[in-house]
Amino acid sequence: MTVSIVRTKEASHVRRAVELLGGMERFVARGDGVVVKPNICAGKDSSTGTVTDPEMVAEVCRMVAECGGEPVVAESPIYPFSAARVFKRTGYGDFESRYGFPMVDIDKAESREVQIPEGQAIDHSVISDTVLKADRLINMPVLKTHFQTVVTLGLKNMKGVVVGKQKHLIHISGLDQGIVDLNTIVRSDLTIIDGIIGMEGMGGPTNGRTAEMDVIVAGDNVVETDAAGVMIMGGDPRRVKHIKLAASRGLGSLEGFQVLGESLESVSTRRDLPRLTGVARLLVSGIAMRSYNLFRNPLMRLTGGQRVKKRVLLGELLIDEENCDGCRVCIPACPVDALLFEDVLACDRKACIRCFCCAEVCPVGALSKKA
Ligand code: SF4
Ligand code: SF4
Repeated sequence: MTVSIVRTKEASHVRRAVELLGGMERFVARGDGVVVKPNICAGKDSSTGTVTDPEMVAEVCRMVAECGGEPVVAESPIYPFSAARVFKRTGYGDFESRYGFPMVDIDKAESREVQIPEGQAIDHSVISDTVLKADRLINMPVLKTHFQTVVTLGLKNMKGVVVGKQKHLIHISGLDQGIVDLNTIVRSDLTIIDGIIGMEGMGGPTNGRTAEMDVIVAGDNVVETDAAGVMIMGGDPRRVKHIKLAASRGLGSLEGFQVLGESLESVSTRRDLPRLTGVARLLVSGIAMRSYNLFRNPLMRLTGGQRVKKRVLLGELLIDEENCDGCRVCIPACPVDALLFEDVLACDRKACIRCFCCAEVCPVGALSKKA
């Protein structure tokens, strides 16, 4: 398996990264329906390092079309954000008219419930039909950090093929294993990481520090491409739980892959990667469990009556009242209705299952996990 690395500030140089792997014709045949899945998680444009640069996505669509494929860009942002609003704020609102390639709002389009036979944390999910029916999937994450999973690259980007609120099931069932479970049924044929402008620090994936890393990384295996991404940020992929789990479950390897273009050493810089405490690791592992009865009813609503395999209940949500501007975006993001706004935001600690979906959506970083 092979990873290519191009040092650049130009989105169009993604073409070079794919050519190093053998060209788009290696991945796309005439007549193939191809889903291009960027990371458009929240309404901040690509200059902040939050979302994939639309210029780079358009260039990939052009390459697919040149091979006779039919590209479609598809995404579901973090729940409860409206895709239409997020697309508009991130420069994707006029993507179809500007570049001539269709975009699908996964939350509004057809979807279906699928079983995950190899699931360790989740045994089903509700996934975009566009993605399930595609002949090829091109995964285009951003090179950035995540306060719960250290990084969010190709493996984690697959959470955006799950429809709206159904993403919560992955958070509450064990995020790391859940990410890998998803990747057992939705396979990336080509992963391209937009690392020209990325993000570092505990605030990722939406409130971290913008970092100009001037690199595009592409690969024919998502685990290996992610491993290379972590190394470029100065980290060790063996210390990133979901990447390590994906390798141990046979989805790729963490070392020994061929690197073309720039060497890993020449583009690597020590970045500020989130350090997970023992409690935080348990939080996202799905191992830590307490009384199911505390949150059975809301979970049953979410899962349509089906039991989740594992449950999480440890850690502490911190609310920064000084910074909170009362926008209430976090309230519908909570899968168990634990947040309430009456003059100030309050959390029902008994109901809270410490999934931190609320912290992901807060636009000002007023919610966080106790270190
Ligand atoms: S309040 Fe608790 S349960 Fe609700 S989203 Fe936040 S961390 Fe999750
Ligand atoms: S915590 Fe964040 S998302 Fe929630 S009301 Fe305050 S500013 Fe809005």
